[in-house]
Amino acid sequence: TAQIETHEFQAEARQLLQLMVHSIYSNKDIFLRELVSNASDALDKLRLETFRDKDLADAGGIDIDDLHIDLEVDRVARTLTVRDNGIGMSRDEVVGLIGTIAKSGTGELIKQLREAKNSANVDLIGQFGVGFYSAFMVADTVTLVTRKAGRSEVTRWSSDGSGTYTVETLDDADAPVGTAITLHLKPEDAEDQLHDYTAESVLRDLVRRYSDFVTWPIRLRTEKTEDGKTTHEWETINSRKALWARPKGEVSEEEYREFYKHISHDWLDPLRTITVKAEGTFEYQALLFLPSRAPMDLYYRDAKRGVQLYVKRVFIMDNCEALVPDYLRFVKGVVDAADLSLNVSREILQQDRQIQLMRRRLVRKVLGEVKEMMKDDRARYDTFWREFGRVVKEGLVEDADNRKAILDIASFASTHSADELTTLREYVERAKDDQKHIYYLTGASRSVVENSPHMEAFRARGLEVLVLTDPIDEFWVEQVGEYEGRTFTSIAKGQVDLDGEQGGKDGEDGESSDDRTDHGSFDALREWLATTLSDHVKEVRLSNRLVTSPACLVGDTYDLPPALAKMYQQAGQ
Ligand code: ADP
Ligand code: MG
Repeated sequence: TAQIETHEFQAEARQLLQLMVHSIYSNKDIFLRELVSNASDALDKLRLETFRDKDLADAGGIDIDDLHIDLEVDRVARTLTVRDNGIGMSRDEVVGLIGTIAKSGTGELIKQLREAKNSANVDLIGQFGVGFYSAFMVADTVTLVTRKAGRSEVTRWSSDGSGTYTVETLDDADAPVGTAITLHLKPEDAEDQLHDYTAESVLRDLVRRYSDFVTWPIRLRTEKTEDGKTTHEWETINSRKALWARPKGEVSEEEYREFYKHISHDWLDPLRTITVKAEGTFEYQALLFLPSRAPMDLYYRDAKRGVQLYVKRVFIMDNCEALVPDYLRFVKGVVDAADLSLNVSREILQQDRQIQLMRRRLVRKVLGEVKEMMKDDRARYDTFWREFGRVVKEGLVEDADNRKAILDIASFASTHSADELTTLREYVERAKDDQKHIYYLTGASRSVVENSPHMEAFRARGLEVLVLTDPIDEFWVEQVGEYEGRTFTSIAKGQVDLDGEQGGKDGEDGESSDDRTDHGSFDALREWLATTLSDHVKEVRLSNRLVTSPACLVGDTYDLPPALAKMYQQAGQ
């Protein structure tokens, strides 16, 4: 037999494990959901692989009609085994997938977790789906035996959750394809009726609560004793009903919540559940969710995004980007289409006309739901916008067709209120009827914007100004132009017709007609400034935009915004 190798966990994996072993999260029951979800993924992958490679099933003795997840307990040894006959792993995969954490942002997560230690913030971890490691919340030792479909090599992995794990290659030609994970349960849970994971009733409850909708059978090995004779049988304990295929009224909030957690790896409840049912020539159903918190990797380029795609209840792919635009990349869920080929690839999907139609409808639906939330439940909407507004605003640039709909659901900081955001509609309602502009000022932070000299005249005249501090704001205000006939106007640019707004006097350029200004007496100063600063400024003029500051710099109407200009400069242009 082969020798046993001892490996060290990658540093980040070790730190996460450390947190798991010391059970920072109070709901340790979810380990089962995580293991079942991995098993379910493995079965999905095997089924897909056999579509692609027709020989795989025959050669490996795999019965594609008998894929399942088994739970088996040994009450004496106090072990629980979760076994699947799915895709399995090669030795390299075991080391690569289980010994390391490849996800972007892990370091950041761990930092935050450590800082949050012992505080209520520990559910941070849920945003990340630490999955497999959650087994160490309930087990002293975890052993995994796996064989990959199409390979003969069998790998055994084992760890007690401290710094190291062992791997060995077994000689076992008869080992079945798939993965078995055995948990040596912590002795302290034995006394606790609710958390005795060797008890049938506990396992039934957990499966019903967390994994009922898993499309594969989850079977429990049950034991019956009759007339002194003990018999065993495999009993399927999940109902396997695809939630999205059931009428909305028949599904409970709790079922939706657990389903959301199953597909998203989030430990928090979703903010909103969205169902879509399209009938007719192109049939599909969708069950989408808005999360209640932005994931750590929302701004990472390589982060996974998109929804799950099914075709007639058969899982096709995770993270289907073609179905949601980038600016809705936080939307989670399932889309089940009736008429797609099971063999669709990502490349085909990007161009498929039906997919594009679906995507358009889903986008409108999601934006519409946010609008409803804004009306019915402002607090919930505020949470949504705080978490995802920055991303949604990307849509103002990306998706010209839905610009109006996005502006309708957007909200912004403004000089009207120090802490509440305002919608554009509210801004317009507060503004005087003849105000033709929606004033804004961009900047790095609220205080920078509010202390800008450009603000003075607006504050003095009681004109509301939007305070735009996200980098994306520079881009969309340029492109969007107007909202309901009122133009977005930067108060740092061009010649702002402030007197026009007040229905006041006409000045030659609207800037030099302030009562306090006496043209003649400033001509000499103006000329001197213009000559002295001629390398830096185009023009020096008198203005009524200032109240207390003596001078400010103003860009031309068509100048690049300062942040963009800086970006181009840095890029060497
Ligand atoms: P995630 O499921 O989010 O990827 P996990 O920690 O749950 O993270 O699992 C890590 C990886 O280990 C999985 O992505 C998968 O590749 C592999 N894995 C875990 N369990 C199984 C299993 N039962 N069969 C095959 N591969 C598995
Ligand atoms: Mg997982």
